[in-house]
Amino acid sequence: MSKLHRDKNKFQKRLPERQKLVKNLLSFGYIKSDSVKRAMELVPREEFLPIEQKPYAYIDRPLPIGEGQTISAPHMVAIICEILSLKDGMKVLEVGAGFGYNAAAVAEILAENGQLYSIERVESLFKIAKENLKRTGYENVKVVLGDGSLGIPEAAPFDRIYLTAAAPKIPETLKNQLTVGGKILAPIGQMDQYQELILMEKISKDEFKTSNLGGVAFVPLIGEHGW
Ligand code: SAM
Repeated sequence: MSKLHRDKNKFQKRLPERQKLVKNLLSFGYIKSDSVKRAMELVPREEFLPIEQKPYAYIDRPLPIGEGQTISAPHMVAIICEILSLKDGMKVLEVGAGFGYNAAAVAEILAENGQLYSIERVESLFKIAKENLKRTGYENVKVVLGDGSLGIPEAAPFDRIYLTAAAPKIPETLKNQLTVGGKILAPIGQMDQYQELILMEKISKDEFKTSNLGGVAFVPLIGEHGW
């Protein structure tokens, strides 16, 4: 049975704003592939925001969602999707669901045969992300409440893992939950400061190739292998 129940005609009201944003993301080079372009055009960001932030949905910046947290700026979501080179049918783990916006973009690319697990430690955010993803029809996302620094051993291994909160280093637990040939992406560095976006590719069971993709600013990962 199909796991994508999006009604493409349902969230069209702000399509012109979305298309304008996508045009800008393309011109700045954040969007490179058709699959990411399509996802950014389809996901209604206003549905993943508290009511008072909805007017700002198509401004390219992070926005507050309560609990001291933010949803990422659209360009950051596009960057994450491009770096991970996501494909239809992959199994992916997101650490830090927030309100579910980034998850929706990834789920759009993974399509009906893919599966995204998104783990969130704050219960109120977990509930809202779950509700937002259900309402918008992304039934290929399973939202889980818990400490994402531990991953989800019972659902592992994953083809891709990405963290939307910054850790002191990439947790070994997560590296172990990655398939050989898989990729893990995380902001690594000091809490409350700028961090580096680190990509690790798993070459063999205990061999990784690491690349530093430059400076970013994320909220801290709180948990056993976080801060
Ligand atoms: N993915 C979101 C989006 O759509 O833009 C942004 C998420 S926000 C930048 C980071 C999230 O990570 C917050 O919701 C925070 O509560 C969560 N978080 C922090 N530490 C975590 C942990 N150990 N496990 C799961 N979630 C965590």
